[in-house]
Amino acid sequence: MVDLEGQTKRIRPEIDAAIARVLDSSRFIGGDEVSSFSDELGGMLDGAFVIPCANGTDALQIALMAIGVGPGDEVIVPAFTFISPVEVIVLLGAKPVLVDVYSDTFNIDCEAVESAITVRTKAIIPVHLFGQCADMGKLLKIAKEHKIHLIEDTAQAFTSVYCDGNGLSGKAGTLGTCGTTSFFPSKNLGCFGDGGAIITHSLDLAADLGVICKHGSDFKYKHIDVGVNSRLDSIQAAILRVKLKHLKDYNQRRNVAANIYDELLEGAVGITTPFRDPRSSHVFHQYTIQIDPFYTSNKNIQDVLKKADIPTAIYYPIPIHLQDGYNFLDYRVGDFPVSEKLSKTVLSLPMHTELSREEQEYIAHHLKEAIKKWI
Ligand SMILES: *Cc1c(COP(=O)(O)O)cnc(C)c1O
Repeated sequence: MVDLEGQTKRIRPEIDAAIARVLDSSRFIGGDEVSSFSDELGGMLDGAFVIPCANGTDALQIALMAIGVGPGDEVIVPAFTFISPVEVIVLLGAKPVLVDVYSDTFNIDCEAVESAITVRTKAIIPVHLFGQCADMGKLLKIAKEHKIHLIEDTAQAFTSVYCDGNGLSGKAGTLGTCGTTSFFPSKNLGCFGDGGAIITHSLDLAADLGVICKHGSDFKYKHIDVGVNSRLDSIQAAILRVKLKHLKDYNQRRNVAANIYDELLEGAVGITTPFRDPRSSHVFHQYTIQIDPFYTSNKNIQDVLKKADIPTAIYYPIPIHLQDGYNFLDYRVGDFPVSEKLSKTVLSLPMHTELSREEQEYIAHHLKEAIKKWI
């Protein structure tokens, strides 16, 4: 699905130098590498404040803590997503209120969000899925109207740009109250372990977020808040500083690969290629096609491709409301029909910065052959 080996090989001397710098400094926690990374990344995000932390899940939890989410509060999240946003809402004692997604963009359904709002709603967490921004124009309008927070989970759409033609434009994660991201190795900007960050344009919120990451401390051994321990390692920051310089190129390579898939799969029976939302650029964290359920399931195609040594992934095979661990939320089959349908149709193809046209031709050929078994 990804080729981290090939990607690392091309920048290995720069990476070695960065790691050596940290070893020579013996500054393994905090220090210049972390603060410089934070500044450099902020520069890339239109001057937003960047608060590095240990991973993308922590980033979400810290963001919710900073806006005061706790027992009695409700937070609206999509049913078709990675588990992190839902998990942290529950951990903080609040209630996740799930809503369905749009069938074309796979992003949170704004009409459904609006009907899910109650007096207890404290925030909405749109997850910018697979590389494209959710409908931030509508979401911001809803958030403003109801005075609730928007926490953008931008782990999959980092540096993607939203621009709706109504005067609203900006990078994913910088439009709402704050944005969160992950530097998990396979993300578009990945380190060599775990890492994450929270992004905000608000100086006050940035200060609060920084305090929460550091045990609620604004000064050594003085605790003004209940916090957590969530840090980005200096070595990871040094590695990320190198990779940050290549991020634009990485995203471009992913877009080139996506265009090639589009071209190779054009008109293929039983396959729908990814929808391109005109309001958002796409960073193709995933290239996710849909298999027409009239013919067969995503799982069946996946099994056939596996025999040709082609890895694929189903993100996500079980929507949140049907996960056993979340039975207590009392949802049932049929509650979110789009999410349920997507879990049986979506198939993510290998997508990374090192794909060759030949590899993609091989994948597209076998994919079309695979579907033919059911046509
Ligand atoms: C990867 C991911 C996360 C979690 O990131 P970690 O760094 O693994 O904690 C959260 N949300 C989404 C949408 C993700 O894709």
